[in-house]
Amino acid sequence: MTAEILIDPAKTKSLIGGKWVDAASGERIAVEDPATEERIASVPRSGAEEIDRAVKVARAAFESKTWSRMRPIDRGSLLESIARKIEDHADELAMLESVDTGKAVAHAKLLDLPSTVDVFRYMGGWCTKLTGKTVPVSFDGREYHAYTRREPVGVVGAITPWNYPLALGSWKIASALAAGCSVVIKPSEITPLSTLRLGELCLEAGLPEGVLNVVTGYGHEAGKALAAHPGVNKITFTGSTVVGKQIVQSCLGNLKRVTLELGGKSPSLVFADANLDQVGLGAALAVFFNSGQICFAATRLLIEQSVYDKVVDAVAGVAKALPLGNGRDANTMLGPLVSKKQQDRVLSYCESGVAQGAKLVTGGKRRGDKGYFVEPTVFANTNPSMKIFQEEIFGPVVSAIPFMDVDEALRIANDSSYGLAANIWTRDIKRAHKLAARLEAGSVWINCHGVVDAALPFGGFKQSGWGREVSEEGISIYTETKTVCALLDD
Ligand code: NAD
Repeated sequence: MTAEILIDPAKTKSLIGGKWVDAASGERIAVEDPATEERIASVPRSGAEEIDRAVKVARAAFESKTWSRMRPIDRGSLLESIARKIEDHADELAMLESVDTGKAVAHAKLLDLPSTVDVFRYMGGWCTKLTGKTVPVSFDGREYHAYTRREPVGVVGAITPWNYPLALGSWKIASALAAGCSVVIKPSEITPLSTLRLGELCLEAGLPEGVLNVVTGYGHEAGKALAAHPGVNKITFTGSTVVGKQIVQSCLGNLKRVTLELGGKSPSLVFADANLDQVGLGAALAVFFNSGQICFAATRLLIEQSVYDKVVDAVAGVAKALPLGNGRDANTMLGPLVSKKQQDRVLSYCESGVAQGAKLVTGGKRRGDKGYFVEPTVFANTNPSMKIFQEEIFGPVVSAIPFMDVDEALRIANDSSYGLAANIWTRDIKRAHKLAARLEAGSVWINCHGVVDAALPFGGFKQSGWGREVSEEGISIYTETKTVCALLDD
């Protein structure tokens, strides 16, 4: 299957109110395959005008009540139909995700697609279970009947990044739809294709027109207009911490509700008693998977002193062995980075690591002369003041550091402005749970990494974000709680 037959130019447009729409300016943004640097498509460079149109359509759909007041069991059943539609088109969507982001098709099939299907299915189940509470009231001694209701927040603006466009977009879309909201989503300008196709599949599955709208465009134009739009009740954003802070500013005008899933600099904590045969591969994949373009990539590798050399060698061994290549090749484990900009950025971090005195154990270079490949890179002899140890690189680069005891490991691990995730490798289960309680991270994985499930709350401490997505918490962020109190005494 080639990229060309998948991409229909008539459908590489924004999807507003069930119609394919160009930008009024007629301008377009080129989309390229990062493995070949070839242009594969283009999408409209939409701006404030198209966002305004989409928000009005979403508002009308919300107020028409065909979705927001649909029988909960029917809404759940429609989300299940969307899940099945995605399953039926899994191969096609995996290929789209691969040509757009560069990732291995096999990984998209193994992870991105099942997790997308799961979240629609899981959130569909919540439609019939979103309940309030009855509440005993003390107030003035008279008798009251008081209860809470969970109501949809209204029109949701969703803004997504380029690393997992389909899966992360679906977290937002499925949860907001389950709550009865309507949605305007702006995918990353770098990787808009799978979100457009998802929008179309939702319509085919029977979602009423206007309930889900996809608008393509740049962040500083379409994204900013969506975040600032007074007709939007809530913004749900996944992306960098820098842009997250700009989103908060844009949302101030009408005090929108805001959920932010931002950057990370997650630590792996490796203890000498861990199963060292597994740690090398586990800690290596925890950072190199998806070429390091994962918000919870474990890019700081903290290793107990007595096994430091052994673990660094093991991780470097995996780094050297991981096959890099075009995501459509069957044996590819790591695809390219998503763009030239990202490749340059990652390589400049590698240069800064060397300049600041870290030891380059392996990698640190571009691979080949076509495509945005960067070799999996291991730095040893790092220290917490180095740029490579503190800043999010968003590429296949890990910085190793030794520690003497639990307290030192914890101090280094928590010395970060981020707090998205952490993993612990040890056979001492008591120590693992004590550490889990003290780590400043939204997710802690013990002897594993990256277990992200529709039922598990996901989000960050500190500057890794606000709020939690997926799980029960992840549907409640798309609701408002209303308190109703009735006097029963005459
Ligand atoms: P980014 O912040 O550059 O862009 C994310 C989205 O925001 C894009 O759609 C972009 O067009 C839009 N945008 C940019 N400027 C905007 C503005 N001023 N107003 C409104 N929208 C704007 O992030 P990226 O480079 O696409 O993705 C990488 C970042 O995403 C990394 O920092 C990574 O850690 C983070 N991320 C976080 C999670 C998580 O769940 N915590 C998951 C994946 C990625």
